[in-house]
Amino acid sequence: MKAANVSNLVYLNGDWVADENAKVSVFDRGFLFADGVYEVVPVYQRRPFLLNLHIQRLQRSAEAIGIESIAAEFWYQLVSDLIHRNNLDDCLVYIQLTFGADSQRSHLPTQPLTPTIYASVSPLQVHWNTPTPVKVAVLEDIRWHRCDIKSISLLGNIMLKREAAKKGALEPLLHRNGRITEGASCNYFLVKQGALYTPPADHLILAGITRTWVIQLARQLGIEVFEVVCDVNQLQHADEVFLTSSSREVQPVGQIDDIIVGNGQCGVITAQIAEAFHASKRHLIQE
Ligand code: PMP
Repeated sequence: MKAANVSNLVYLNGDWVADENAKVSVFDRGFLFADGVYEVVPVYQRRPFLLNLHIQRLQRSAEAIGIESIAAEFWYQLVSDLIHRNNLDDCLVYIQLTFGADSQRSHLPTQPLTPTIYASVSPLQVHWNTPTPVKVAVLEDIRWHRCDIKSISLLGNIMLKREAAKKGALEPLLHRNGRITEGASCNYFLVKQGALYTPPADHLILAGITRTWVIQLARQLGIEVFEVVCDVNQLQHADEVFLTSSSREVQPVGQIDDIIVGNGQCGVITAQIAEAFHASKRHLIQE
């Protein structure tokens, strides 16, 4: 493990440079229009977790906005190089792909552009025990209708996260007309009578890789999972609520606005899923 104050090596368009020296053009469409997509991959003991699913999602996002396809092998190599060049055991790999730099600011590109590829790592605090429950705040989802694309345009997400933070909450729990969508950077699960309920993977949410994995783990444990429209009113009757994301893994929710979920502690099913999640990480490390 390296010292916290040592700069990281980042990848930028074929070059490896210290992060503070990495420079992108002011004409980059990512900078001017947020015309790009990104991906975040957790790495445990130098092993990327569910990498193929993350790369498939990156390719889906890139295709959705019209960036030419880049082979999966390129991304696998890049992730491996990032981990080894930076000498980090547990980390989050960040990959960003934009439409590239033009010669002027123009809503439509004025010429064929080469995509800008940027990738970096940051240290990751890995959970091995179930984390303490957090508070979330119910807020109206003000974002666009293509939340399935992992766009670098996160303005809506950030405004909502700030509003949640003002209420002392870690994350917003978003809804559209009473229909639960997701958080600013996570997906939600409700537990009722031993079964899991989570909003469907449509255009209104980003289908988290952690969400996909949790659904699979739950089914392996014999827990029923329903990917169905969930109403905010169901929250009052939920036995347990938890959120998922690559950096938070499985995180119990103890409070929604002023309402305590269950007894405010991590519920039995949430603990069971979190333990299965830890076991799958251990399995990856020991492979
Ligand atoms: N929804 C949103 C809006 C997110 O930003 C994230 C995290 N990137 C997630 C869900 C969870 O996705 P994952 O499990 O792949 O980290």
